[in-house]
Amino acid sequence: MSEMMKAVVKTHAGPGFFELCEVPIPQIRATDILIRTRATSICGTDVHIYNWNPWAANRIKPPVIIGHEFCGDVVEIGSQVNDVQVGDFISAESHIVDHTCDLCRTGMAHICRNTQIIGVDRDGSFAEFVAIPAANAWQNPPNMPPEIAALEENFGNAVHTALETPVVARKILVTGCGPVGVMTIAVVKAAGARSIYASDISDYRLELARKMGADLTLNPKQSNLVETVLEATNGEGVDVLLEMSGAQSAIRDGLQLLKAGGHAVLLGLPPKPFELDLGNLVIMKGITVHGIAGRKLWETWYEIRGLLRSGAVNLEPVITHRFRLYDFEQAFQTMMSGESGKVVLFP
Ligand code: NAD
Ligand code: ZN
Repeated sequence: MSEMMKAVVKTHAGPGFFELCEVPIPQIRATDILIRTRATSICGTDVHIYNWNPWAANRIKPPVIIGHEFCGDVVEIGSQVNDVQVGDFISAESHIVDHTCDLCRTGMAHICRNTQIIGVDRDGSFAEFVAIPAANAWQNPPNMPPEIAALEENFGNAVHTALETPVVARKILVTGCGPVGVMTIAVVKAAGARSIYASDISDYRLELARKMGADLTLNPKQSNLVETVLEATNGEGVDVLLEMSGAQSAIRDGLQLLKAGGHAVLLGLPPKPFELDLGNLVIMKGITVHGIAGRKLWETWYEIRGLLRSGAVNLEPVITHRFRLYDFEQAFQTMMSGESGKVVLFP
């Protein structure tokens, strides 16, 4: 094995500064494994790091190798690793948790106080090799297509959101049909939702939403979301809001469309704080609000496995573009155009 590898590195603070560099292959510690990356997909977070939004500026300490959605083959294991073997084909939970804080110890490791994220707080997967704790590995069947295996982590966000509250026979509104939104649509469809209404400001993405199972799609730039969904629901509104955009107007309209007593499940991250009429939109309607962070460890991963292996969800249509790692610039431009589903890179 050569000592060096190719990797996409955020080299400096500021917008841009992604460079394909020759860097040393990561060293592993006793509890780590080294993975030869087979496929790695671009997440909205990677775009934020590229554009250097306020969150990225606060959190990222360049130089760091980007990327946290990936799969690959285990090529080396640390001396204390027992449950992962060289040759295993794995995906990875991107959140490294401490297993010792009060939250981890009470079944809430997905909101661990000391979470470290691969490709954010430490070197990630836009590289030929990536080192992770063995505890973060998830075993895949050897014949799983690499682009699907790379997508499991992000699919987990969708599964976590979709299964947070009952959806069987319920009317569901999904605001935001990016990759996570459209995968969420597929899960609630599989879980027996009665009807699925979906909104996005990109017609390309609304098309994808229909492919993944939405019954009615709507572009709030072209027509009034609240009026249309009220009309479609005999003036009643929906039982469940799945908010996957982080857009202020989508959150407001979504809460307005939620029936009294309904559930709002929020995953989309608003870029900055904003005002909301909690009294009328949440409190007096007796609404339950669920915040969704990451994936439940490891309940969500077993649900991912079940939904994919049973064939209940097919992720193929979500993957719209494939690039070689050295074409990462083009891959990011594609991702930022809004005219894409998931973009996958192959080292
Ligand atoms: P994305 O940016 O591709 O998708 C967001 C979608 O919302 C886009 O298609 C955009 O066109 C659409 N949108 C924008 N304004 C809208 C509006 N007013 N009404 C309806 N749709 C609108 O991102 P993604 O990768 O699909 O992720 C979805 C969101 O979830 C992002 O905000 C992301 O940061 C967040 N996220 C959160 C977690 C978590 O753990 N909570 C994990 C992953 C992603
Ligand atoms: Zn913890």
